[in-house]
Amino acid sequence: MITPVLPTYNRAPMAFVKGEGAWAITADGTRYLDLGAGIAVNALGHANPALIAALTEQAGKIWHVSNLYTIPEQERLAEMLVDKTFADTVFFTNSGTEAAELAIKMARKYHYENGAPREEIIAFEGAFHGRSTGAIAAAGSEKMVKGFGPLMPGFRQLKWPETEADHAAIRAAITEKTCAVIIEPVQGEGGIRKVPDQCLKGLRDLCDATGALLIFDEVQCGMGRSGKLFAHEWAGITPDIMMVAKGIGGGFPLGAVLATEEAAKGMVAGTHGSTYGGNPLACAVGAKVMEIISDEAFLAEVNRKAALFRQGLEALVASHPSLFEAVRGEGLILGLKCKATNTDIVKAAYAQNLLTVPAADNVIRLLPPLNIPDADIAEALTRLEATARAVEA
Ligand SMILES: *Cc1c(COP(=O)(O)O)cnc(C)c1O
Repeated sequence: MITPVLPTYNRAPMAFVKGEGAWAITADGTRYLDLGAGIAVNALGHANPALIAALTEQAGKIWHVSNLYTIPEQERLAEMLVDKTFADTVFFTNSGTEAAELAIKMARKYHYENGAPREEIIAFEGAFHGRSTGAIAAAGSEKMVKGFGPLMPGFRQLKWPETEADHAAIRAAITEKTCAVIIEPVQGEGGIRKVPDQCLKGLRDLCDATGALLIFDEVQCGMGRSGKLFAHEWAGITPDIMMVAKGIGGGFPLGAVLATEEAAKGMVAGTHGSTYGGNPLACAVGAKVMEIISDEAFLAEVNRKAALFRQGLEALVASHPSLFEAVRGEGLILGLKCKATNTDIVKAAYAQNLLTVPAADNVIRLLPPLNIPDADIAEALTRLEATARAVEA
């Protein structure tokens, strides 16, 4: 018999009723150290006092007005994002998937405006851009598209660049006919795979040479998670369009599409909309998250904590060569490439009251809150060590 909640998730049996920083707590008071952070969403931990204040203060004023009117909280957050990034303009959504939809529409409209519509959007194997019909067509993962056809046409997935032949295939694929290239600077669901800086630069050059738009999906790797405000900053280049979500709301549903004025030129009044997108509650929280995370001193702390965590993880991998192969990622978007089955280790970690998240390519994701205390990093390493011993036993 079907459950009242549509059973599209294989859920772990724990139910959390309360949170404190990096800890999630069940009804009987059992505390789990949360290295999933709601899949990179709770960037500032559970029950962050500054976010509670921002949310409750706004809740006492006005919740929702619709985008038929000017929303001061939205304008403020847009200005903060424009101020700190390549972007000239921002559209707010409720999720990463909705950001993907607009990014695709914006890219197609841009070339239409130019009088030369271009169809093909190039994506990469292992990518994840969301679960809408457009987003699954873009990523093209067999597991996610099966049974949902016909798919939206116009997408093509290239091999993840590893060999010289892969790079040559990318150079051959991006032409004057290409509408856009969409890529996660660090693949999340795909297994915490960072695109080498040289490769991101190469994509920028190819897009410049052909007039294709470059879209970065920073839904998972953005908002300070990589140690820079946005992960592409490590490569020293910028996209034309960028998708943001997850961390930007700190747990409140919020997403955004950032774009240059040029890339956004087709998106005039009436071309796109959202009832909830950028509502006052979401933007009040988002502005507080942005204020905290975009601070250079905060980002320096993320990098310091990341180095500490990574050092411990390298030691863990070295001392359990039968279970782990390597540490992956950048900043606090980290992955353990496993030799044993990743989901077995994730389950064994539950027994140590530790929450981690599996990813493709047999990887375990470690995405703690960006402000995780050093003591909790040490505790996480102790529990990972205990997990490894239990799996080996
Ligand atoms: C989670 C994710 C999405 C989809 O975001 P939702 O908020 O779940 O719709 C898109 N792209 C990437 C890289 C993601 O990690």
